[in-house]
Amino acid sequence: MSSALTTTSATATAAAEPAIVFDRVGVTYGRGRKTTVALADFNLRVAAGETVALLGPSGSGKSTALKALAGFIRPTSGTVRLAGRDVTGLSPSKRGIGVVVQSYALFPHMRVHDNVAFGLKAHRVPRNEIGDRVTEALDMVGMGAYATRLPRELSGGQQQRVAIARALAIRPKVLLLDEPLAALDAQLRQNMLGELQQLRKALPDTAMMYVTHDQSEALALADRIAVMRDARLVDIDTAHNLWQQPSTDFTASFLGGANLLPCEVKHVSGTAALVTVGEHTLRAEAPSAGVGRPDWAPNAEAHLCVRPHTVRIVPLTERDALRGTVITSVWKGASTRLHLEVAGIPVEFTADVPGHTPLTAGDHVGVQFADPAGVLIPPGIGTESATTDPEVRA
Ligand code: ADP
Ligand code: MG
Repeated sequence: MSSALTTTSATATAAAEPAIVFDRVGVTYGRGRKTTVALADFNLRVAAGETVALLGPSGSGKSTALKALAGFIRPTSGTVRLAGRDVTGLSPSKRGIGVVVQSYALFPHMRVHDNVAFGLKAHRVPRNEIGDRVTEALDMVGMGAYATRLPRELSGGQQQRVAIARALAIRPKVLLLDEPLAALDAQLRQNMLGELQQLRKALPDTAMMYVTHDQSEALALADRIAVMRDARLVDIDTAHNLWQQPSTDFTASFLGGANLLPCEVKHVSGTAALVTVGEHTLRAEAPSAGVGRPDWAPNAEAHLCVRPHTVRIVPLTERDALRGTVITSVWKGASTRLHLEVAGIPVEFTADVPGHTPLTAGDHVGVQFADPAGVLIPPGIGTESATTDPEVRA
């Protein structure tokens, strides 16, 4: 009786533990004067079945976080836990984690089958099970017919599928993907993104971490997005919340691109605000106070986050149209990106208008904001290197 009770409560505790925990993890590379802090006080929990994207610019510490979890590097401080077990000092092959990296890392002299079987041998899977496990993993990524090929006889996308199969063959509870689509061309990347979504559905109990600097991949795949900057996690939330109500300028810019217009809060009622931007009064959404969010006080300084696709170009004669001048106009195919100067607004800003417009530099246009024009962001958090144009960063 008592042993049955003990067993039950032990199971309950194990189930409550997140699949992945980073607890105040720090990683410093190098010694003496040439040290780089690659990860600082990094905390993150990922539940079984959850996918978290680590999103951030190059050098922000994303790969370092994955390597610390996979065991390829030893953290300088803090612990990593898998399902409640401290694995900080454990060798990579004992962690049971599947890892996929950008460069595929297949053995060039081994056939597809042997590449996938390699990890199973390292994990001491009994010999008579290996064949079935390899077939199962290759079938999951649609590569069952290619088992006897060499990597050089496959396209880049096919090689990456094999690398994913190799990671899946060990039936990992945790799957880590580090920019797995970065080496593929744009069309293939789109297709593979769809396949990764399918794969995620096929692995409902697997915790996944997906590293990318590409916001569209993070939006397509992640339950939550963790935004990284300069070795730190600066924001974490569902993709929807981060996009709708970013709590920092950096997140607003990195996820979706944003105009950050300096403004002054004039009046707040619930989540609706009136703000002044230069000489104009605009309606804004004011996220309710919470962690990292101020209670919007009258006359407080803030940034109005205006998404470029919400700005409309209208005839100058239209009611409420602000007077704008086109500074640059760049056609992008599905849309045209305009840089604008608007009378009474102290900063230049960007509008994305659908299709091709015949506008060129110097043209005068009417400019209309949406209603509300955008969402308020507290000023001064993480503004230094945030650029408003996602393509400048790429
Ligand atoms: P990301 O994956 O976000 O591009 P990384 O985690 O690879 O970033 O790198 C974070 C920082 O650590 C960068 O400044 C990078 O130059 C540095 N770094 C990464 N690996 C090493 C290493 N082996 N030795 C020294 N510095 C490194
Ligand atoms: Mg990286």
